[in-house]
Amino acid sequence: MDPLWQTAGLSADEACARLDLLVAIVPSGIVVIDAAGGIELFNPMCERLFGYTAAEMAGRNLAALFADPPPLAELLRPHSALGLPHDLTGRRKDGRVFPLRLTMGGGALGAKPIYVGTILDITAQKEVENTLREREEKLTSVFETGPDAIIIFNEQGAIESLNAAAVWLFGYLESEVLGQDVKMLMPALHRELHDGFLAHRPTGEKRIIGIARVVMGQRRGGDTFPMELNVGEIRIGERRLFTGFIRDISERLGAERRLQDLQAELLHVSRLTDMGQMSSALAHELNQPLTAIANYTKAARRTLDQGVEASRDKVQELLDKAAGQALRAGQIIRRLRDFIEKREDNRAPEDVNKIIEEAMALAFVGAAEASATVTAKLGANLPKVLIDKIQVQQVVLNLVRNALEAMASSPRRELCVSTALENERFVEVVIADSGPGLAEEVVAKLFQPFVTTKHDGMGIGLSICRSIVDAHGGKLWATSRPGEGVTFHFQLPIAQSGDEEKARR
Ligand code: ADP
Repeated sequence: MDPLWQTAGLSADEACARLDLLVAIVPSGIVVIDAAGGIELFNPMCERLFGYTAAEMAGRNLAALFADPPPLAELLRPHSALGLPHDLTGRRKDGRVFPLRLTMGGGALGAKPIYVGTILDITAQKEVENTLREREEKLTSVFETGPDAIIIFNEQGAIESLNAAAVWLFGYLESEVLGQDVKMLMPALHRELHDGFLAHRPTGEKRIIGIARVVMGQRRGGDTFPMELNVGEIRIGERRLFTGFIRDISERLGAERRLQDLQAELLHVSRLTDMGQMSSALAHELNQPLTAIANYTKAARRTLDQGVEASRDKVQELLDKAAGQALRAGQIIRRLRDFIEKREDNRAPEDVNKIIEEAMALAFVGAAEASATVTAKLGANLPKVLIDKIQVQQVVLNLVRNALEAMASSPRRELCVSTALENERFVEVVIADSGPGLAEEVVAKLFQPFVTTKHDGMGIGLSICRSIVDAHGGKLWATSRPGEGVTFHFQLPIAQSGDEEKARR
């Protein structure tokens, strides 16, 4: 016998008394029934639960205790049902009902089969369950009917759930993406950046990770679109999950980009007009020192005719004056250059891949011809470059827009973007398209202003790009493969130690 319940040495009466005590004080209902369901034992807890006395229930059928009695065979069927809990509705003597959990065990008393059931009141548990279910239903309805696409994925990037808005936005069936890598929803360019993004996420915080980022999304079929992405973190026990809230911002960005384009063009046009006025003023100003230089050198020449020794001091003086005027002319020219390059200098060390990511998203906005396949070979661990972020994005934007426009009627529309270290001094960005290549009439003067083959083109995009890259101390050039596309390259200088400090000042 169980050493915890020592009956050895007890008289039969004493052992019986102990068992009775146990059945009386055990804090769950206990019923003993025969094979036909007739009640043989109904303990005090059962009396409390159902409001019947044991005497009232003696010999009655177990089914009398339930509002929804299951067939007895179901409760007593050996193996399958014995030991398994049945959640049923109990009915008290006063007619009130309550949820209960009945678990049956079976055995034999001599040759007679005997069954014992334990009964627990699960009202409190059901209430908790109902509250949880209600909460879950509310959350599910927010998840399912919210306007933003929501995607839940795990630490490995595998998608665990997505809502109806996400299904609609990306065009995949739920079954096609569940368990797949979340990267399938981003074009190649962002997949690589996304890896870095996942790797660098802070841990253990429930808040939204970082601020909203503008990245590119990719629908089924390869169409790309700009989206705003917020990532939140959830912890469930040991598991970390991530929630991506996604908003398609093509339309909003479309408006913003048109505004930006207009501003950039206006700025440049007004600068060119200013330059027109400025250069006539400068021509006038430059004329002075140049005339003076001519006069001084002519005078020196004449003075020399009087004999070298005699004129020595005079010639020296005239040449000094000529040199002074030449320096002045130089200053005037420098002023002109400063004016042309006049800009707020917001250079700071920047991560070139990140800047390209943002600019690409912008470039793809709102253009019908935007359905190109983008591939990226972005260098890993590139050093930072010292640049004015907005200006360099303008360059990328321009080059990508040109490429997309050029490829609009090409059978193959592939855009390849790469970044790599060049000579330990520069990061080189390469943007290659699969369009028709450069038209013959523009090849020689590609970077000159007002050179265009488009009926609505201004032809100033590339000239601005080149002056921006030049001003950064880099180079911009193009190679054309007629019939196969154009490749633009530009180099940006690597930030040196100390640039960070300078940028902050
Ligand atoms: P715009 O786009 O207003 O014409 P740009 O200076 O940006 O001005 O471009 C000048 C010209 O260079 C374009 O009109 C086009 O003929 C040519 N061009 C630029 N990029 C490409 C490209 N990727 N493929 C073919 N031609 C290009």
